Amino acid sequence: MTPEPDAELPIGDGPVPVELLAIGAHPDDVEYGMGGTLVRHHHLGYRIGVVDLTRGELGSKGTPELRRQEAAAAARGYGAAFRVGLDLGDNQVAATEAAVHRLAAIIRVSRPRIVASHLAEERHPDHRAAHELVRRAVFAAALRNLHLDAGEHHVVAATLGFATDRVLDGDVHVDVTEVWEERLATMHAFASQFDAPTLPIDQRLYGTDDHLALVAARARVQGQAIGVRYAEAFLCDRGVALDDLVAGLGGG
Ligand SMILES: [Zn+2]
Repeated sequence: MTPEPDAELPIGDGPVPVELLAIGAHPDDVEYGMGGTLVRHHHLGYRIGVVDLTRGELGSKGTPELRRQEAAAAARGYGAAFRVGLDLGDNQVAATEAAVHRLAAIIRVSRPRIVASHLAEERHPDHRAAHELVRRAVFAAALRNLHLDAGEHHVVAATLGFATDRVLDGDVHVDVTEVWEERLATMHAFASQFDAPTLPIDQRLYGTDDHLALVAARARVQGQAIGVRYAEAFLCDRGVALDDLVAGLGGG
């Protein structure tokens, strides 16, 4: 039995085993926060899964159906094995027991080594709630005696947080310089979110060029921290265990 995603799956037939699971509150959050990392790890041969906690139905731009199509197109750009939605309700994300168990079941079936999602301190309340929901779901997935609808208990090696609204002084930086154009393409897939602005606030803050320039500026600053042109940064939820310092930190 598979966990119950919402009826309209953007990609795939539901969760399957992956190495990297990215979880966003709204469609486009994972691309915004870690699109280059997704592209890079696709090129490295890792399998990638995506969970969108809501359909973003309260967003001022685009429609949920359009965003679903865009989410599918973006996910194809980094070869996602699956992309599922939990439809928890835009602006209603909360770490309820039901939501924790649904997400934990997806983690148990997809068995990721790495889970990446929002930081705790983001401006958007859904992003903050997503952080707590993911943290609890990762914990629940590992509980041997907790019975869920799907999968065997599973321990995630590392849970990472990405930023969507700031430059991040990360614990971990991923060099995305080589995949920068593809990284931008994952965002261009969400054309409805970057269309010509229609509201005064958008004209002030987020025209298309501004939006992409902001992402590039953050990646440039984060890249400087590791001596590359563009990087994406993550905070680790806890200390990360390394068996091999040279392989883990030695580069090459
Ligand atoms: Zn969001």
